[in-house]
Order: sequence, then structure tokens, then C-alpha cells
Amino acid sequence: MANNYEKAVKIYEKGGQYAIYAAVKSGELQADSWRDCLPCEDKTPHEGNICLVCGTANKGNDIKWAIIAGTLESGFYVTGPFDSEQDADDYAEDAIKRYSSKLDICKVVELDNPGE
Ligand SMILES: [Zn+2]
Repeated sequence: MANNYEKAVKIYEKGGQYAIYAAVKSGELQADSWRDCLPCEDKTPHEGNICLVCGTANKGNDIKWAIIAGTLESGFYVTGPFDSEQDADDYAEDAIKRYSSKLDICKVVELDNPGE
């Protein structure tokens, strides 16, 4: 997929960061996901881990987990994110032990990469 990245470099040289966004939105350029990129200070299109705007490898958007818990009466809240499913499971188990009679829902959910 080096060709796609080379294309991105050419588009960037001509039109900068926003030309990349436009090219992805129009389908001219392929992107797997949109991720936060620190050097770009924005959510940018990525091919794999590589930012198509600046070439930085961003691996900060790995899947994370969260817990949705609460009651129908008082509403639900989200806890997290947790870096591992195990951490989320442990936390949820503990919450169930303590509040089981009061919780209508206590569920571990996967947080996907935004934009995918
Ligand atoms: Zn970038």
C-alpha cells in the first residue's frame, strides 16, 4: 500500500492537511481509520498506524473497554476507559458484587476506534 501513502505525500505537497481530508472523503485516497494525531493536532486519516498527513505512527487508539452500569430508575453511567478487557471485567465483577441487587445492567463494552 506504499502507493497510497506516496499519493498522500503528493496531495499534501500541493494542498496541505485539508487536501488530505478532502481526498479521503472523496475516495481518492484510502484510509483505514481516523485517529488522533499529536503533531497534526487533529483527528486525521490513517493507513494502519500511519498518519496520512504527517507520517507519524500513532498507536494510541488501540481498542479500549468501558463499563455501562446503572438502573432503569436512576439512569446509566459509563466507567472507563480501561486498557484491557481483564481490567474492565474485574471492575465490573466488583461492582456487581457490591451493587448487584440495585443494578439493572452492568456490561463491559468494547470502544472501537472512532471513524471506523
Ligand atoms: Zn499527523
